[in-house]
Amino acid sequence: MGAEALKPNRIAEAEQSPPADRPFFMSSSKPLAPHARLAAACLLEGLVESGLEAVAFAAQPAPTPAQAPLPAADLETRIAACRACALGSSRQYPVPGEGSGRAQLFFVGEAPGAEEDRQGRPFVGPAGQLLDKIIEGGMGLARQDVFIANILKCRPPANRDPLPTEVAACTPFLEEQIAALQPKLLIALGRHAAHHLLQTEASLSSLRGVLHNRPQGGPKVLVTYHPAYLLRNPAAKRACWEDIQLGMQFLGLPTPQR
Ligand code: SF4
Repeated sequence: MGAEALKPNRIAEAEQSPPADRPFFMSSSKPLAPHARLAAACLLEGLVESGLEAVAFAAQPAPTPAQAPLPAADLETRIAACRACALGSSRQYPVPGEGSGRAQLFFVGEAPGAEEDRQGRPFVGPAGQLLDKIIEGGMGLARQDVFIANILKCRPPANRDPLPTEVAACTPFLEEQIAALQPKLLIALGRHAAHHLLQTEASLSSLRGVLHNRPQGGPKVLVTYHPAYLLRNPAAKRACWEDIQLGMQFLGLPTPQR
């Protein structure tokens, strides 16, 4: 399944009639209908029974409250209730992520900022507006065709960098989203997302420009600059666009002539 699956008309068809083999999945802006929650619960219970969840979490640290044995489809509920790190007490709203349950492309950012914290939605501030331009103006997709989430689901105070303990506590949620969605490509926005997804400490510049395999398998990973960095360093937009075009080629999307 490639670019065809990302076209809006295909997405609309799919969301009217969710297939049994793909998750009809979470969005922080729209509550799931009961039938959709039931479908997601069945799918995720199937993953657990088949042992795939154990594979997906094989590289994760010791169990945290984020992995508590609550119903798998209630991910948003578990994130809202999570106090596995101190950010759960300082946030306004958790930001679980949003997008299409059939997305082949999953953007992974760092953590919610101030506007995201106010709205409970990912990438809705100035950096989010630039990401929208990349998705819509650059890639020719609609924002609702992709999935967008962060490695942290709660905002760090004053937008400081995530602490290693916070990343360890929170990333089981992200891994659960990746395992359920099974996208074709993950695009890591910035070094924190890249370091988690690839389990490396290498510099972002050294990770750009190629498609990576994750140590535990699963979707390919493309690394590029975080939109917030691009706002501060507009000269890096050209390199980001080169990365995005590499991802478009991998997904079978037509590359615009510029
Ligand atoms: S940042 Fe993640 S681990 Fe920490 S409280 Fe929020 S949801 Fe839980």
